[in-house]
Amino acid sequence: MEPIFLIITFILGLMVGSFLNVCIYRIPTGLSIVIPPSRCSSCNTQLKPLDLVPIFSWLFLLGKCRHCKVKISIRYLLVELLTGGLYVLVYCMVGLSLYLIPALILTSLLIAITFIDIDTQTIPNGLVIFGLICALICVFTAIAPAANDGYWYNALDALYGALVGFAPLFIVNVVAKLILKRDGMGGGDMKLMIVVGLFLGLQQTIIALILAIYMGGIVGAIILLVSRYKSRKDTENDNEDKKPGHYMPFGPFLALGSFISMLFGAGILQWYINLLS
Ligand SMILES: [Zn+2]
Repeated sequence: MEPIFLIITFILGLMVGSFLNVCIYRIPTGLSIVIPPSRCSSCNTQLKPLDLVPIFSWLFLLGKCRHCKVKISIRYLLVELLTGGLYVLVYCMVGLSLYLIPALILTSLLIAITFIDIDTQTIPNGLVIFGLICALICVFTAIAPAANDGYWYNALDALYGALVGFAPLFIVNVVAKLILKRDGMGGGDMKLMIVVGLFLGLQQTIIALILAIYMGGIVGAIILLVSRYKSRKDTENDNEDKKPGHYMPFGPFLALGSFISMLFGAGILQWYINLLS
């Protein structure tokens, strides 16, 4: 763990995080992520390079646009810091190896998808296709999976991973269409898990799904309890956004589960095996 590589990885993460902010903001609106250069979303002034330095520009400008003084969401800062932090974590777990490339690509993809899904309840096809291309390149150049268990990738494992990632969500989707008459529920989720499956292979994709279901279930139960408690508190002024069963995006849980499984999946499996024996 060379300190210099830690610093380089962190700075790389900050820069990628800055770009992910652009992706998160622009992809759902259908804007190009390259042209035009970054602008203030309020006054439309083109930002200077100095305004685009990760973290520092936000801090120096105290979270306000230099021109119109409109507040810039602290989320920009958080996404940059999160990406930098996760990059360092990935580097510490994977080490300086070829595995680092797919691991960092998948990490970036998962961050962008998480925030876009929270914002819009959709996972953009463009990101899925980008992930698919990267995953296939990794499969055919044999530099995935981004796991620390060290076995060389094989294409069959990637295929199984994609199938296992896709199938359960596909079944949920079909059942939802038949019974709940809800269209396209979780459609983005299954596309995401095809990409994750290709990156991680069979074993870690299963762990990713299990983690996502548990985390989603726990958070969903908490939200349900809180909203029950709230709606009991103000039954007299109940309004339309207290509808039962409003949609909680599952994408962020799949992303988090996939990330944890990518870094710790082999360890989790070992722990489970030890538990049984
Ligand atoms: Zn402005």
